[in-house]
Amino acid sequence: MKIRASIGTAAALGLEKIRVFVKPTTAYLMLYSESHCQSNCMFCSQARDSHGSTNQLSRVLWPVYELSELIERFETIDSGIKRICIQTVRFDNSTIDLMNILTMLSKSSITVPLTVCSYPVNKTELREMKDLGVKRVGISFDCATPELFEKIKGLKRGVDITWQTLERTMVDTTEVFGNRFVSTHLIVGLGETEQQAVNFIQQFYDKKVTVGLFAFTAVRGTDLEKHPQPEMASYRRIQLARYLVFKGISSLSNMSFSKEGTITDFGTSTTEIKKALVSGKPFKTTGCPHCNRPFYNESPGKELYNFPRDANAKELSEVEQYFTGFLK
Ligand code: SF4
Repeated sequence: MKIRASIGTAAALGLEKIRVFVKPTTAYLMLYSESHCQSNCMFCSQARDSHGSTNQLSRVLWPVYELSELIERFETIDSGIKRICIQTVRFDNSTIDLMNILTMLSKSSITVPLTVCSYPVNKTELREMKDLGVKRVGISFDCATPELFEKIKGLKRGVDITWQTLERTMVDTTEVFGNRFVSTHLIVGLGETEQQAVNFIQQFYDKKVTVGLFAFTAVRGTDLEKHPQPEMASYRRIQLARYLVFKGISSLSNMSFSKEGTITDFGTSTTEIKKALVSGKPFKTTGCPHCNRPFYNESPGKELYNFPRDANAKELSEVEQYFTGFLK
């Protein structure tokens, strides 16, 4: 049975000889199909209308391997991998393929926890995933508001999956897995304001669902290939806001925003902000435990949106520059 693995995952398993700047602590796998996905997200090279390569997701390459070969590597190599995340793509029989993959993994001696980042499935299928050893499920809203969702992933893209469909799947998923074991993604830079991004983060924090932040990254061949990445200053503010919300230090209602929706006050003391900045934690990759997604949104050598490891002193002082106005 064939499956894709991110090139960094393949390198960690000794299947590719490339220079890896930071090792992934999660192995990223993706369902394999020769055709494009039945969904049509504007940012995704897997999308139905994309002319981009199905070898790619964000800026990462995903070569194809035999699952049995990957399993053997997982079983025999000390790769430092602490989680496996399977990314789903919608095609005829994709759910059957997913269950076959999970069955093979469940028969192996692999013990690291499994996440499935899934399109909407029903409760029976969620229970089947759980029975086959899945520990967490990711349901990706990606967009901060229902309106953006409709435009970028939903009805306006000819796809009948709506924000409400995902909300229902999220309820089913939390019932089956428990709400602490559910994640979602937010891609920053799709046209939302900072206030809308923080509103999204607060909503899911209130539901005890983990939010993984991504910076929009244009991929050639997609409908958003010319769309810019988010401004770093704005992304940093959203990262800090997410951190403060998830640590229970502040909340949407304590923060203030300009009339354009830019964060003007984090709703906490300068001391707390300084403490967060010094720790560097708000700027590390967020999502399921041990998910570090090295260079998913950025090239090596460029300023990192998400740090896949601890930031060094120079990087921390660069990050601090974005917050001088908040430290007076
Ligand atoms: S946060 Fe990471 S491990 Fe979790 S679903 Fe997203 S990509 Fe997968």
